[in-house]
Amino acid sequence: KVLVGNLIGEDHVNYVLMYNMLTGIRIGVSRCQAKIKRPLTDEDYVARHKFSFDIVGNELTPSAKYDFKFKDYAPWIFRDLRDEHFHLDPADYLLSLTAKYILSELGSPGKSGSFFYFSRDYRFIIKTISHAEHKFLRSILKDYHQHIKTNPHTLLSRFYGLHRVKLPRGRKIHFVIMNNLFPPHRDIHETYDLKGSAFGREYPEDKARQNPKAVLKDKNWVNRGRTLELGPEKRALLSEQLRRDMEFLKRVKVMDYSLLVGIHNMERGNRDNLRENQLQMFHPEVPPPRRKPSAIKQSNEASNVRKAVRRSDPKMLDVTSQLPSSDSADRRHFLFYQDEGGLRATDEANQNMDVIYYLGIIDICTPYNSLKKIEHFWKSMTEDRHTISCIEPVTYGQRFLNFLSSVMRGGDKSLRPLGLEAPS
Ligand code: ATP
Ligand code: CA
Ligand code: CA
Repeated sequence: KVLVGNLIGEDHVNYVLMYNMLTGIRIGVSRCQAKIKRPLTDEDYVARHKFSFDIVGNELTPSAKYDFKFKDYAPWIFRDLRDEHFHLDPADYLLSLTAKYILSELGSPGKSGSFFYFSRDYRFIIKTISHAEHKFLRSILKDYHQHIKTNPHTLLSRFYGLHRVKLPRGRKIHFVIMNNLFPPHRDIHETYDLKGSAFGREYPEDKARQNPKAVLKDKNWVNRGRTLELGPEKRALLSEQLRRDMEFLKRVKVMDYSLLVGIHNMERGNRDNLRENQLQMFHPEVPPPRRKPSAIKQSNEASNVRKAVRRSDPKMLDVTSQLPSSDSADRRHFLFYQDEGGLRATDEANQNMDVIYYLGIIDICTPYNSLKKIEHFWKSMTEDRHTISCIEPVTYGQRFLNFLSSVMRGGDKSLRPLGLEAPS
């Protein structure tokens, strides 16, 4: 009984949480943004600004629908990243994220239990993260900032903000805001999440054929005989940037990240309309109705919320008409996001081909901690040491890079880790 009660609470919390996250961002971020720019100091990396919201309001925070606390981490650093290095327009950023409070929810596509929300124009992703990931990101923030400054064309996730919402009963939810690698105006015909590991890295092919939006993995890539079709020029640029990004990831001792690759086939264009339904709108102004306790299962909690929202406001499902028809201006600043928001395939004479890649390195906040070491120890007793995905950061990075070089046209296929050999 208690468990069911909790689940109803959670169902509701998703709605309240969203409202609180966006209200916090709207007030917190605009507050920092309104101040006159000043040089950054070392304190800025560890700074946190606290806001306390309630239904009454005060001179610092306007009245909100709920009582909650909001923390903005390193606001000056993230402001510098957004304004100076990621080329975001401050007003645009806030409007995209918080105007009208419309966001769509991707549920939880990973195993970690994180939740993902898209801004209504599909440019930004809010990802809830664990406390460990949060602490880790704060601890590497200075290094990350430095890497971004010296590598404007990095493939690493672009982090725009790090925040925390605390609900009255004490639940603390940490989240980051980052770039959506996929553009609003192009169907993605195939998606791959590549780690350079064979262990558990296959999406069942029979299921994949029925679901064009499935996120495929390393073994699917190899079995389908995929290569990144890039001519010598782009190949050299991409390899060099990947190498530099890997140096950073090894230095900060992170692992478990992947290269996310979205493939758009220009001949197919957008006629499959894969973007339709890609976004299920989440509209926090309309609280989901409470459901009969017996009808609720934890696994489809997110989909319950979506269904409830859909029932209460069907207009919200008309998303494609709200999506921008081109990529956003910030992308033009970045070498690998310049062609229609992505990287266009080229032949050996560096001439354009009819494929656009959308790629980047994601999920870069998992430190190699004791927990992972334990997992590694147990797995290594049973599985081949080189094929499991949890290994220490230097080996992980080297294996990842080897696989990525084998992934490009003309790349050395012999560099593929064990278990990822091409099918004979
Ligand atoms: P796990 O730890 O189990 O891998 P996670 O919850 O940490 O999962 P991620 O690996 O960060 O989740 O992302 C899961 C999926 O969400 C990715 O495979 C990709 O399909 C999508 N995704 C994540 N980040 C982005 C992004 N920046 N742009 C587009 N899609 C993304
Ligand atoms: Ca991941
Ligand atoms: Ca993860």
